[in-house]
Amino acid sequence: MITTKKSDRNELSRLTGREVDIRTPRDLQGLIRCYGCGAWVKDMKGVPHKYIGAPMGCWEIYGEILAKEYGEYGYPQPTHRLTVDTYAVQHPGKPSRQAIQSVNVHLVRLYLVLKKGLSMKQATTAMGRVLRHSDKFAWLEPPLPNGHITVVDVIKAQNIEEHTKQVEAWAKDVWKAWAIHHEKISKLVKQYLGE
Ligand SMILES: [Zn+2]
Repeated sequence: MITTKKSDRNELSRLTGREVDIRTPRDLQGLIRCYGCGAWVKDMKGVPHKYIGAPMGCWEIYGEILAKEYGEYGYPQPTHRLTVDTYAVQHPGKPSRQAIQSVNVHLVRLYLVLKKGLSMKQATTAMGRVLRHSDKFAWLEPPLPNGHITVVDVIKAQNIEEHTKQVEAWAKDVWKAWAIHHEKISKLVKQYLGE
């Protein structure tokens, strides 16, 4: 559904560098809604990733966020890993062996960190053990909407404190959106990790 929320207008103005009225088709030229996260992004040519389902315009904002994390924020943990997990889960792509594996293992790590309180290092080790059984993973139908917070919100952070807070909120929001599959993920963990 197209809304005329103030946050949407601000988002579109940021992308286009001009005042945008979402009810005016002319103003939406050059923009598309990301088919993963639902954010308004620039309509750019190309397919950025083999199995992560994101259009180039969304991928570009994700790249800006990663650049901030690698650069000025000094590779913050667990924030950086949460960013990677959340983005992958919010852009599940189409059912393929790699996409199925990606969504399952990134959901497993979100579960272990957000719900089981594991450190990122423990969660990553556990994720490796779960990954050995990736041939048994099934396609999980993505929720709609796939969360409400997106890269467009995260990129607005002005410093590492804001960024950390925003990434945590984003990860929790997307995890919550997948509620219908929470039981399957906790079963996977029980089955392969005995936890
Ligand atoms: Zn997106």
